[in-house]
Amino acid sequence: MSLIVIERLAIIGVGLIGGSLARALREAGAVKTVVGVGRSRTNLDEALSLGICDEITQDAATGVRDAQLVFISVPVCSIPSVVAEIAPFLSPGCIVTDGGSVKTAIVHECEALMPPGCHFVGGHPIAGTEHSGASASFATLYRGKRCILTPTEHTDAAALGLVSRLWTLAGAVVCSMEPGHHDRIFAEISHLPHVVAYALVHAVGTADVEGENVLSYTAGGFRDFTRIASSDPIMWRDISLMNRKALLASIDGFSRSLDELRLRIDRGDSEGLAEFFTIAKQFRDGIV
Ligand code: NAP
Repeated sequence: MSLIVIERLAIIGVGLIGGSLARALREAGAVKTVVGVGRSRTNLDEALSLGICDEITQDAATGVRDAQLVFISVPVCSIPSVVAEIAPFLSPGCIVTDGGSVKTAIVHECEALMPPGCHFVGGHPIAGTEHSGASASFATLYRGKRCILTPTEHTDAAALGLVSRLWTLAGAVVCSMEPGHHDRIFAEISHLPHVVAYALVHAVGTADVEGENVLSYTAGGFRDFTRIASSDPIMWRDISLMNRKALLASIDGFSRSLDELRLRIDRGDSEGLAEFFTIAKQFRDGIV
């Protein structure tokens, strides 16, 4: 019995996230033909030679022709404009879904762009690395990881069911939540850590200790903590702008925490410092 769920899948943005979904669905035997759409020929040629895609094109309208499902995995600020570009060329019944890390603005704008009979389902796989492009993708990226779908009162139940089934076939554990709730949670646990990592490396990289390049002395701790500051700057520019309100609230909470810590250091409050570090250590030990 054939497992094929999708005859023709278009992936717009064949990078880490889009390329890994294509690879996982291929491995599961769930898709017949994968069409890769992108801007640069080099990345698309790589996707073709790695066997991620069967066909490639730089023209989004051509890429989505006859596709039953379109997965959009470009930086978040470009997702609504990509959907606006492809909307007139979607086949009747086509489902459009995405992997963007911010959901409220994308879901709101993309639902409104769907032609009659086509359906948008917002999604966000909770998996990734600091590497980019087709060559960074791998089939097991989503195995055992969560994928959050963000349906609204306008979401078509059958479309939601199909997108959920595909993520399950890709190895993910699917759950659903309201887009605004998603954005507030991920501002805290993902977007804040990235901006803090970028700020830390920026501060240390520009620090002047008697003319020494202090970065040359960094070892395990600094490197572990700042790994995510090697992520793609354009992706994080877009996420910071699109989730601005929730991220600013998270940065304010972090600033209060840092101010409190600074105060305890300034006062030489050894008990207060030990208490602060103990509470943080307990939270951290609880998640690993
Ligand atoms: P990536 O590896 O850089 O892949 C993005 C791809 O999109 C690139 O190959 C790029 O290729 C293409 N692209 C960029 N703008 C485009 C446009 N306007 N039209 C068509 N193609 C375009 O990035 P990624 O890590 O896969 O991230 C993709 C999405 O997944 C983002 O929305 C991000 O928020 C989300 N996400 C990322 C992670 C993570 O950890 N990386 C995790 C979960 C979700 P060309 O430059 O050749 O066009």
